[in-house]
Amino acid sequence: MGRNRRANGVKQWGKTGRNEPCPCGSGVKYKKCHQDRDQAKQVPYHESAKKLLHFRKGERVCLYPSTGGPCSGQVIRAHSISESAALARIARVGKVYQLNTNPFAIQKSQGEPQLKLENIAAATTFTGFCSSHDHQLFKPIDQGSLSPTREQAFLLHYRALCRELYVKRPNLDTNELLRDADRGRPVSIQAMVQGYVAARRVAIVESIKQMESDKQICDQAILVSDYGFLRAGYIRFCKTPTLACSGYTQPSFDFSGAEVQDLADMSKPCLNLSFTLLPNDHGGIAVFAWLDSADSICRTFVQSFMSTTNDRKSDALVQYTFDSFENFAVQPDWWENLPSDAQADSKMKMLNWTDLTVGIDPGTLIPGLIRFTDWEVEATGWL
Ligand SMILES: [Zn+2]
Ligand SMILES: [Zn+2]
Repeated sequence: MGRNRRANGVKQWGKTGRNEPCPCGSGVKYKKCHQDRDQAKQVPYHESAKKLLHFRKGERVCLYPSTGGPCSGQVIRAHSISESAALARIARVGKVYQLNTNPFAIQKSQGEPQLKLENIAAATTFTGFCSSHDHQLFKPIDQGSLSPTREQAFLLHYRALCRELYVKRPNLDTNELLRDADRGRPVSIQAMVQGYVAARRVAIVESIKQMESDKQICDQAILVSDYGFLRAGYIRFCKTPTLACSGYTQPSFDFSGAEVQDLADMSKPCLNLSFTLLPNDHGGIAVFAWLDSADSICRTFVQSFMSTTNDRKSDALVQYTFDSFENFAVQPDWWENLPSDAQADSKMKMLNWTDLTVGIDPGTLIPGLIRFTDWEVEATGWL
């Protein structure tokens, strides 16, 4: 899932009358909501964690364009990264590492991000397509090499978009769970928690709206097989990348540390970029893709990547994957043999996914002193 915009608007909670609306924005009278909340019993972690897991399951729904013909198969656990064409190439005895986002595991490690081994049959899957549409639509990117053609770049983009939309939709519910985090806490903390939840809600609503609108444009394109509006930058590697990723995000700071888009500015929509990194039968490929309406921002962002020297491009992509996405798969041997400073640095970036309180580091994507890998650049290009 793409990172949410950061919330910083904290409401001033003055004295509120018993019968006035609660300043938390719940719509309920103060006496029935936040009055005496500092005395309330705290919600045990395992209760909220259980609810979180329930909401996260998501729906079982085929995201294929609704006017594109009926589903002839059951909704399946569809791969967002191809099992046979990509994951199998980096697996060890059928398993890859994935980020463990289970709230119980996060509690156990005291917030430190952990990777867990996952079977490639289950890794990166989501119940967002029926078997027939999944098979038929993504055939051109599920077998063989990717040039990529414009159609292939579009399908990578569409798959990342659909998966992100699928995981983002339940975020409105999981965000509301945070409202109970202030029980038994002082009023100052209550105001902070509720202000955070409210601002986060606005950001989630906006980002879902933007993605639904992106999807409508893409759905239409599928029906007429015209992908002319898609823009992309790609890079082919000679060696097999030790990572795979499929994600959809709002770029903010680029590979030189410059801000390309202010995610806190609610006056305009945030523009989206998809990123796919795949091992394949030739070596590997990374594709950044976006709609022409997002060209001003995404092109600048991708240009900053293209401007890094070829011997640092793999490092830059490792940093980008761990910082900006949680839907990735890691080759086990590579991860286990990474020097400890490289592992520690990677885990710092993954904190974006296990700790809601970390802020944005503008320089996070700039290739630094740490060397992660070099998959050897074969070619770069634009579509
Ligand atoms: Zn309240
Ligand atoms: Zn279907």
